[in-house]
Amino acid sequence: MTIPTFRPDPKRDAAAAELAQTAGSWPRVTLRRDVGAFRAGELFYGVPSSQPGRYYLTNARFCSCPDYQQRGSGCKHQRATLVHSAAIEAAEAEADFEDMIEGVAAIKAAFGSRHADPVTLAQPIRPARYAAVFSAED
Ligand SMILES: [Zn+2]
Repeated sequence: MTIPTFRPDPKRDAAAAELAQTAGSWPRVTLRRDVGAFRAGELFYGVPSSQPGRYYLTNARFCSCPDYQQRGSGCKHQRATLVHSAAIEAAEAEADFEDMIEGVAAIKAAFGSRHADPVTLAQPIRPARYAAVFSAED
């Protein structure tokens, strides 16, 4: 699915950034069956309404709030889900980077400084030798 972007809107973007802080407590629901243009399994968040205790069903393609009903895409709830998705991607990228750094450290520890930089190894990699550190991708 292509993730849409919304035209900048300072007021809604600011509200979305604040809402996204609460994303850890948003209920997550998925469709049990196809509904219109939506397919079974599509994820929606329960993004809090301004009224305490109320939630709107929201994802990048839809929101059940009045703003969405009147203006279409780009309400603060949808923007908040995009902020949340971007934060998740950034955290995953950081975790991947930390894994890579740990991998390099493991290679140094396992094979010594001659193999300190796995990217510039001059000799072909013999997989069996690296089995303790890497699992096969293919
Ligand atoms: Zn909304």
